[in-house]
Amino acid sequence: MPHVITQSCCSDGSCVYACPVNCIHPSPDEPGFATAEMLFIDPAACVDCGACVSACPVGAIAPDTQLTREQLPFVELNAAFYPKPNGKVPPTSKLAPVLEAPRVRRRDGAPLTVAVVGSGPAAMYAADELLTQRGVRVNVFEKLPTPYGLVRTGVAPDHQSTKRVTRLFDRIAGQPGFAFYLNVEIGRDLTHADLLAHHHAVLYAVGAPNDRRLDIDGMGLPGTGTATEVVAWYNGHPDFADLPVDLSHERVVIVGNGNVALDVARILTTDPELLARTDIADHALTALRESKVTEVVIAARRGPAQSAFTLPELIGLTSTCEVVLDAADRELVQRDLAEATDPLTRGKLELLAKLGDAAAPARRPRIRLAYRLTPARIVGTERATGIEFTVTGERETRRLDAGLVLSSIGYRGKPIRDLPFDEAAGVVPNDGGRVAGASGAYVAGWIKRGPTGFIGTNKACAAQTVHHLVDDYNAGRLTDPIAKPAALDRLVRSRCPDLVDAAGWRAIDAAEVARGGGLRPRDKFTSIPDMLAAAQSAPPPSLRQRVLAGLRR
Ligand code: NAP
Repeated sequence: MPHVITQSCCSDGSCVYACPVNCIHPSPDEPGFATAEMLFIDPAACVDCGACVSACPVGAIAPDTQLTREQLPFVELNAAFYPKPNGKVPPTSKLAPVLEAPRVRRRDGAPLTVAVVGSGPAAMYAADELLTQRGVRVNVFEKLPTPYGLVRTGVAPDHQSTKRVTRLFDRIAGQPGFAFYLNVEIGRDLTHADLLAHHHAVLYAVGAPNDRRLDIDGMGLPGTGTATEVVAWYNGHPDFADLPVDLSHERVVIVGNGNVALDVARILTTDPELLARTDIADHALTALRESKVTEVVIAARRGPAQSAFTLPELIGLTSTCEVVLDAADRELVQRDLAEATDPLTRGKLELLAKLGDAAAPARRPRIRLAYRLTPARIVGTERATGIEFTVTGERETRRLDAGLVLSSIGYRGKPIRDLPFDEAAGVVPNDGGRVAGASGAYVAGWIKRGPTGFIGTNKACAAQTVHHLVDDYNAGRLTDPIAKPAALDRLVRSRCPDLVDAAGWRAIDAAEVARGGGLRPRDKFTSIPDMLAAAQSAPPPSLRQRVLAGLRR
């Protein structure tokens, strides 16, 4: 039985939505959902994917091998919820169909070989799905010397339990047939055609690396920026280590109230000494220790019932930070509460109704949730000194003084060289992952469906793409690679002398963990030269390892 829900379960059901095999009950279509004291994992149906671990807001789910002594009774408790095999079959959620593993029809001389571009959740879940079949080869290409995309550079540092999904990714990367080509940029170092010459298919899982821009006067002035850049800054992404994040003023305003806004507000108001125990980047920790920020306002253009953040994240926010509402917004919450019927919306509104009053004196840096504020313009000439809003649907304007204004209105995909791009949606046009009009090209994750959902959402998304890719291979629609496998290695090494392979990544990983000194999960390198220096400290493979690696490929 791979995963168990423990006593700190909050029953919000986010794990139910993330689970790709519907093994967590009661689910929304069953009696007891939202009222049950806790949720239960069906030991027979769990596939150990770890998606629920990422989705759980309270870190209540753990693999059975990692339970403390006090948690051991929960193994039985979870199992006891489900009738024995000869009893009544537990009800099955209708949320998402369970996909069967793809069946590759093996062809001698041309085993299915796939290039995956990107190494975040969608990429790793796609690789995992492909490697369920013997003989398949997957080469994962990543621009940075470090893998795992937004799990490393997007998930907030105080959400270490979410980052535990990297253990699953490590296991996927250790499977026979898997190879990492890190610090290689497709479109610069290698072209799409280069990849197709060496693979049957190229699956892009490059995410949505840009952010949606807030189109109002003054955005771009010093003192303005985007929440997604700040996320990359505090997570030590090498491209954002030098981002100017000015925390010398009392107020920060964040426009948009999705989960990213909540993450940024939480990091800006949490005691830095608590963050010092996480893998937050050192430069961010120093800036937060010197911060003068006493209030972060999260401004939404619609009302409380339309809040974009999820209930689990709101629960997490209110249990760790001081979160307040002003009197006008409290009234809006009560009005929405009177009309709301959907349980998750009601859950959010009930929690909002219990928040403290913004008029009360603040005891520590706090977060104010504000509603019905449509951004109109940035105030200030040389730099931002605030932001002006119109009250949504009215003529009235409101001004908030602030030293930093961040837009947090969503991520956005960027075009991939040699592939079509839908500018309006910010995705590569595709049919279930097959790129329109480009044989051999596939997409998964945010570049396929847009920037929505949890880490676990990418499992089903990647599985759908892999099914179509395997169908195409089985039907003979994919061209066999023209080059032998060893030729790819030679080509990449000739174009990218600083290539980082799996051993190099393991060396970076070990060096970061060692720098953490046991006090932090890791102390991240935030510059590429430092990462490469650590990668080069990897001991050269022994003859035995080289022979074994050859056999595994
Ligand atoms: P999001 O959830 O799409 O929220 C975007 C916010 O921006 C909404 O409040 C939206 O308001 C607002 N907005 C959009 N255009 C605007 C405009 N022109 N002016 C003012 N406001 C505007 O985006 P996100 O926070 O970047 O999150 C992206 C995805 O990642 C989500 O699926 C999220 O759940 C996920 N994520 C999850 C976690 C987690 O589970 N811990 C953490 C981070 C991110 P309207 O609703 O009015 O359009």
